[in-house]
Amino acid sequence: MSAPIRLLPPQVADAIAAGEVVERPAAAVKELCENALDAGATRIDVDLEGGGLVRIVVADDGAGIPSDQLELAVARHATSKLGSVDDLAHVTSLGFRGEALASIAAVSDLRVVSRTGGAETAWLLRCRAGEVIEHRPAARAPGTTVEACDLFHNTPARLAFLRGERSEAAAAVRAVSDLALSHPEVGFTCRSDDRLALRSIGGGLIDAAAAVFGRDASELVVVDAPGEVEVTGLISEPRAHRGTRSGLVIVVNRRRVHNRALVAAVEEAYSGLLPAGRHPFGVVQVTLDAALVDVNVHPTKREVRLREEGRVFGAVQRACWTALQEARLGVAGARLPQLDGVAGSAAAPGPGAAELELRDAGAWVPADAGDGPPQQQEHRLADLAPLRPLAQAADGWLVAESPRGLVLVDPHAAHEKILYTELLAEAEAAAGAGGPAAAQLLLVDTVVGVDAAAVERMSENLDALAGLGFQLEPFGPGMVRCRAVPVAAGSADPERLVRDLLDTLQAAGDLATRRRRLAALTACHAAVRLGDRLDSREQARLLERLVVTPGGLTCPHGRPTVVVLDDRSLRRAFGRPAA
Ligand code: ADP
Ligand code: MG
Repeated sequence: MSAPIRLLPPQVADAIAAGEVVERPAAAVKELCENALDAGATRIDVDLEGGGLVRIVVADDGAGIPSDQLELAVARHATSKLGSVDDLAHVTSLGFRGEALASIAAVSDLRVVSRTGGAETAWLLRCRAGEVIEHRPAARAPGTTVEACDLFHNTPARLAFLRGERSEAAAAVRAVSDLALSHPEVGFTCRSDDRLALRSIGGGLIDAAAAVFGRDASELVVVDAPGEVEVTGLISEPRAHRGTRSGLVIVVNRRRVHNRALVAAVEEAYSGLLPAGRHPFGVVQVTLDAALVDVNVHPTKREVRLREEGRVFGAVQRACWTALQEARLGVAGARLPQLDGVAGSAAAPGPGAAELELRDAGAWVPADAGDGPPQQQEHRLADLAPLRPLAQAADGWLVAESPRGLVLVDPHAAHEKILYTELLAEAEAAAGAGGPAAAQLLLVDTVVGVDAAAVERMSENLDALAGLGFQLEPFGPGMVRCRAVPVAAGSADPERLVRDLLDTLQAAGDLATRRRRLAALTACHAAVRLGDRLDSREQARLLERLVVTPGGLTCPHGRPTVVVLDDRSLRRAFGRPAA
């Protein structure tokens, strides 16, 4: 940073979107790392204690701050990066508002130790609640260390809003991961309570992706589309996918942004290639003229406005599509269902239409099936007993007979419902008895590579996971070890299951809610698939277990497990008078 630090003229300060910069420790971590990047650092080390609430230390080997500018650096609206309002139109630095250090100083006990390349010594500046209380020489190699202690100690209202140390740590690690992906040539380490959560060596995007995505990085393909809107990056093969969108990092001009349109552009490239409800992961970097990007639209700079969004959208979508085609990854097989769907809707009524007819005919579809006509009565699975299997038809639907009528069963949804109910019953029984839930020890421990942040999410949810019978523990950076899974999950692939669980985990919600969410996902993994062939004994067993499962007719995701065609519906469907 060669330009001196100057106080912004008031009109510039006013032109800058106001707002809270530091709303949680992760935001402070992000701002401090961005300062280090703006200072040209090649290496940034982040240390967190207590999720960053107790202590955040960010050390870099960047240009440093001259001693006579240290006090200005922590003053509000003081920046070396912007001189006039016009500069706002083409910001190339990550920071530009000159309020991060001031905001952090206002809510913490702040120490900055910095030394410029030419200086003989480093200087230390200490502030408490925004007031400078110390400024003296200190020892340090060239570069800057910023240490913020007791974050939000003087703003209890803000403190009350935070989620707990582990969630805050997870968010902070995530912030560093995002920066490692947007600045892959810079080395990053992030420690959380002395545990190494992330190490990106600064060797380029592939290394950074390996650090952030762990073993999943091997499933990424290269995106490389030069042009005025350049799109590069690494995106997941269609066969690897996740339950949420959070694994997709979008970077615009080296800034990680949250932009729904661009996420949609990436997802569109996968259209027809991913199962419903599944999402790609990876990193997509868009590089374009800075004048086309308005970075000054969000207080924490997490959103940007694109001047030619349509054009950028098209470029991203094409680049990702081309990358997937070129990688020729199961494209032919994966596209078939979509093509079938298109043909089906044109030539003959598709499955949607058939279902509608059944409903119109008064089929006994579940009350909570969603878009069907309102049902008069809440039905229960027990009402169908005894349920006798007749056949497995078409794609795998079971056809069964009950005293109530002909019953069509979705074996996956039914099995899912059974397992979900068993998992929760077991967890409740174990909790009541004060013991662990019945678990099945794995013959060989499964070690799963996951996001650094996922390890934090796991730790945050250990109570809910252990309550169901999972035995999980951190195992080195970006890895977790699974020793046992719930008995009901015995048939699931433990690696995929654990990975998906950690992916989907949100720490929000009380224990019961989180447990239900985890149980639903576990059940989904362990249940038979719709296409699986079941012999007659397996069919009978599944139906027996189904009719003793309490609750309504839907699976944990709210889809029907059975469709009942009773005599009345069949008579109506065939145009016969009611009996
Ligand atoms: P901004 O980044 O928007 O300029 P900040 O409050 O984050 O505002 O930082 C104020 C100024 O302090 C920066 O403009 C920069 O000159 C200086 N500064 C902050 N952190 C560092 C750092 N790690 N290395 C060098 N200079 C820094
Ligand atoms: Mg800054």
